[in-house]
Amino acid sequence: MTLSPGDTSTEFSKHIPGLIRRLADTGDLPDEELCRLLEQLFCHEAEEYRDILYKTARKVSVQTFGNKVYVRGLIEFTNYCRNNCYYCGIRAGNKKASRYRLTKEEILLCCREGCALGLRTFVLQGGEDMAYSPQDIGDIVAAIKQTWPDCAVTLSIGEHSREDYLLWRQAGADRYLLRHETADNAHYGKLHPPKLSLKHRVQCLYSLKELGYQTGAGFMVGSPGQTIECLVKDLRFLKKLQPEMIGIGPFIPHRDTPFASESPGSLTQTLVLLSIVRLMHPKALLPSTTALSTIDEKGRELGILAGANVVMPNLSPDGVRKKYMLYDNKRSEGSEAAQHLDQLASRFAAIGYTIDFGRGDAPSFR
Ligand code: SAH
Repeated sequence: MTLSPGDTSTEFSKHIPGLIRRLADTGDLPDEELCRLLEQLFCHEAEEYRDILYKTARKVSVQTFGNKVYVRGLIEFTNYCRNNCYYCGIRAGNKKASRYRLTKEEILLCCREGCALGLRTFVLQGGEDMAYSPQDIGDIVAAIKQTWPDCAVTLSIGEHSREDYLLWRQAGADRYLLRHETADNAHYGKLHPPKLSLKHRVQCLYSLKELGYQTGAGFMVGSPGQTIECLVKDLRFLKKLQPEMIGIGPFIPHRDTPFASESPGSLTQTLVLLSIVRLMHPKALLPSTTALSTIDEKGRELGILAGANVVMPNLSPDGVRKKYMLYDNKRSEGSEAAQHLDQLASRFAAIGYTIDFGRGDAPSFR
C-alpha cells in the first residue's frame, strides 16, 4: 500500500485491517507503515481496530502455545544497585530506599517453596549489586540446578562482562532477561546517566545470545521522552536481535526518582505494542507484566488477551516484597503472589486459559 501525502487519518484508518493482516501474514512491515499503524491505533477512536489487532495476536499466540500461560517464580534477591537509571526506584541515588540482599540459603528456600507450588522456572532478579562476586552468583545458580535439575534458572541482574555471563552459563543458568529499555540513542540518554550506553547494553544482549542463553530484551511504554519513532526503532531492534523473550510494560513513576512527576504509560498503548510484538514474533515468550497489572486491575488478563503467554508471580520472601519498589504501588499481593496461584488460575480460567506448569522453554530450545 502506498500512502499519498494527502491521506487524512480517516482515509488511512480504512487501511488498518489490511495492515494488521499483512503484519500477521509476513511478521513485519516497513518502518513507515509501522509508524502510521501505531499512530492510528493509539487514537482514542480506534477501539474497533484495536479489537481486531488483539484478536489477531491472540490467535497467533494460541496457535503456537495453546490456551496456556507459563508461570515463573520471581525472586527479587537484592535491591542494592550501582546504577542510577532515572526511572528506577532502586537506583543508587535513592537514599530513601530501604536496602536488602538475600543470602544463598534464603534464595534456595524461595526455590524450595516455589518447587512445592509447582513452579519450574526461577527468575533471579536484582540491581547490579557488587556485594555478590561473579563466583557467588555462579554458586547460587549451581546450587539451584543441583537441587532441582528439572528447573530452569533465569538471571536478570543487568550488565556484566562476557566472562561473567559465561561463568554463570557454565554454572547452569538457562535464560537471561535484559531489557534494552529503548533502541534510540538520544532517548537512552534521557533515561540513563552518561555512564550507561545503549551500545554497551546491546553488546551484552549479543554476548548473552552467543553464549546460548534464551535471551530476553524489551522496553517500557510511555517512558519520558519516548516518541512513536522510538517505538518503531524498538520494534526494528527486536526484529534484528530475535530474542526468545520480550518484556514490555508501562512506565510508572516512582516518587523518589527524577521522574516522580511524569505521567505513567497508557494501558492501551502497552496492549497495542504487546499485540504488534506478538505478530512480529509468533514464537516469543511474552510476559503480561506486573507493571501492567499495577496500572489496571485487569491488566494481567488484558495482556494475555492481547497475545502474552507468560506471567511471573512474586516468590520473594514476604518481608522484602515491599522493598523491591521499582515504581510506585508495585503490586505483589493476591494473584501477584506465587503463594496464590489458585487465584491466578481462576482469573485465567475466566478468560479461557490454564496455567502451564512446565519449564516453558522457548520453542527453538526444546
Ligand atoms: N538490574 C536489572 C533489573 C532491572 S529491573 C537490569 O538492569 O536489567 C527490571 C525492569 O524493570 C527494567 O529493565 C525496567 O524496564 C523495569 N522498570 C524499572 N523501573 C521502572 C518503572 N519506573 N516503571 C516501569 N518499569 C520499570
